[in-house]
Amino acid sequence: MNRYLTEWSLTRRKIFTNCARRFAIKYFSFNKRNTSRRNKTSFISYSDLMVRCTRIVLFELLNDLHKGVFWSNKVIVSKLRFQLNVHISSRDKLNMSLNRKNRLILHAHKRIKKLMKQEILRKIAANSITEWSFHDRVQSTRFGHLNVYCSPDIVYRKGAVWHLVRLNFQAENKQPFLDLELCSMLLWSRGNHYLPNLEHKFVIHGLSWHRGKWYYKKIRPSQKLLQETKQLLEKDVHNFNVLYQEFYRSGNFDKLPLANTKLYCRRCPYQPKCPVNEQAE
Ligand code: SF4
Repeated sequence: MNRYLTEWSLTRRKIFTNCARRFAIKYFSFNKRNTSRRNKTSFISYSDLMVRCTRIVLFELLNDLHKGVFWSNKVIVSKLRFQLNVHISSRDKLNMSLNRKNRLILHAHKRIKKLMKQEILRKIAANSITEWSFHDRVQSTRFGHLNVYCSPDIVYRKGAVWHLVRLNFQAENKQPFLDLELCSMLLWSRGNHYLPNLEHKFVIHGLSWHRGKWYYKKIRPSQKLLQETKQLLEKDVHNFNVLYQEFYRSGNFDKLPLANTKLYCRRCPYQPKCPVNEQAE
């Protein structure tokens, strides 16, 4: 049956802008006819596996930090090794060399170590930021007719000002809408009754990992920026639905537009049987 998609998240936006086919297989597989292709694939690229484990370990670290427990480098590495062993597929368990595994752990450790040297995290660890919490993006916020996954990773308060922080462990080369994407966290704050409902009471922070470094962005949001953010979300969801209509007519994922660059395909779980493989190099 035809339906209207209402969910927005940064992950959806990123996949949609990079490849319509990948987006469709991941998010249009809600009926029996389409689920098989999604369920069959358990592929996750090594770099996505490493990012997943890094996030999990970082949040465990923050959880302990909240209780006043500090981790040594040794603990971080052993937690990363454990998470990698838990999340690795049985096929990769057989294929992955110890060398490769150690390299992934090294990359993950580097991200966490360098993140903990960033000013916000340093202040949290040094207890000069005392009122803080951390969140994962599992709960959605209702915004008009949309369900938006937009919660910050860390929230802290300094005086009367609330700070919303987003961590991106694997940023893309170009992020032309970074300001608006970061401002989507304001919608989460509006859904959270414990926080004040005023844009000028917030500061937005983005930390993005790219090519071995964390890049920092700070935004003082305005009504105009908030308005533009809402428009971006509405437009994105409209475009998701336009694509869905196109897919609904043909019922064929392989007729949808493919990624512009094969570089993007390297981390795609739907690469086997993708028509991109038939295109000339
Ligand atoms: S392999 Fe590439 S073109 Fe095919 S679905 Fe994945 S990202 Fe898109």
